[in-house]
Amino acid sequence: MDFTPKAIIDLAALRHNLALAQRQAPQAQVMAVIKANAYGHGVERVLPALEQAQGLAVARCDEALRLRALGARKPILVMGGAYNIEMISAAAEQGLILAVHHPGQIDLLESLPKKALPRCVPKIDSGMHRLGLLPEQTEAAMARLKALNCLGEQPLLMTHMACADDPTSAMTDRQWRQIQPLLQRYDAQLSAANSALILSRPEMQGNWVRPGIMLYGASPFIQRSGPEVGLRPVMTLQAPLLAVKYLKKGETLGYGATWTLPEDMPVGVVGIGYGDGYPRHAPTGTPVLLNGAEVSLVGRVSMDMITVDLRRQPQARVGDWATLWGRGLAADRIAQVAGTIAYQLFCNLTSRVRVEIHGQG
Ligand SMILES: *Cc1c(COP(=O)(O)O)cnc(C)c1O
Repeated sequence: MDFTPKAIIDLAALRHNLALAQRQAPQAQVMAVIKANAYGHGVERVLPALEQAQGLAVARCDEALRLRALGARKPILVMGGAYNIEMISAAAEQGLILAVHHPGQIDLLESLPKKALPRCVPKIDSGMHRLGLLPEQTEAAMARLKALNCLGEQPLLMTHMACADDPTSAMTDRQWRQIQPLLQRYDAQLSAANSALILSRPEMQGNWVRPGIMLYGASPFIQRSGPEVGLRPVMTLQAPLLAVKYLKKGETLGYGATWTLPEDMPVGVVGIGYGDGYPRHAPTGTPVLLNGAEVSLVGRVSMDMITVDLRRQPQARVGDWATLWGRGLAADRIAQVAGTIAYQLFCNLTSRVRVEIHGQG
């Protein structure tokens, strides 16, 4: 066997999660969000499992062009839109759909022949105040876009929710109310739902939903994990046990000698570290799954290794595989103790990790 960490990508789990998004939003079409290399899972790996999605969505033009180069034929929404003439022309050539969130982007569109324009989707700032046309900019922007003939048969407006991860937040309802008059005024379709909205607000699905994190099996919510909302983990990150040693009470472990052994005990060294994307801030006590039981990370995470307390698994041997997150250990739990979100754990995975695909076809 080779002693390098591996990420098992389970495409059957991805199909299951996509089907769940479709069941939650039965009236809507699904744009699978695969920005940031499919949240670190690899776009070329996940594409074959997204056959049932009606469209794809990414943040940037270059991501969309890469999808076309890989042979993706579905509609692709570029959620950040284009920032220069070359991008707009490439988008038109490749049949991409561009979000338009700023009047400057309309200036660019107007500098091109109407026939050379891609389809555009106005992005409305309904209160998140990141990208999006402010309500007072919408009227003029819509008039200009209409004149350019780039809104398609029926305009599609998109917006993004700031607090959907907290289903009790009043912000979501405020944003929802902001967008309603615009839908009526322009007889427009709506795309508003990310994973959190898909899973928590059946009345807010709109016409196109945009699931991201839920496709990969992690939870969009602060309080619940992926499995708790019916999702299956797509990525299982594993690494081998490189060494087992018995150390004496009072000895210290690793960089900074931050952890002191409370008794004579076995300690394991697992071959994964922040150089592979395991979070350096994972503290002592972070769970690691080993031979069916949870053991605890102890001491500092280093670049290539972590150390674990083997008192609960004294029979563990060199070559046993530990699971850092995935099947049997939700990435959401690791994210929470490491002070981050599963999104970031997935995105941070480095190319040093070998990838195995399961659940094809
Ligand atoms: C990333 C993103 C999504 C997907 O969000 P998830 O929380 O991963 O479901 C949807 N819409 C926009 C605009 C995004 O940037």
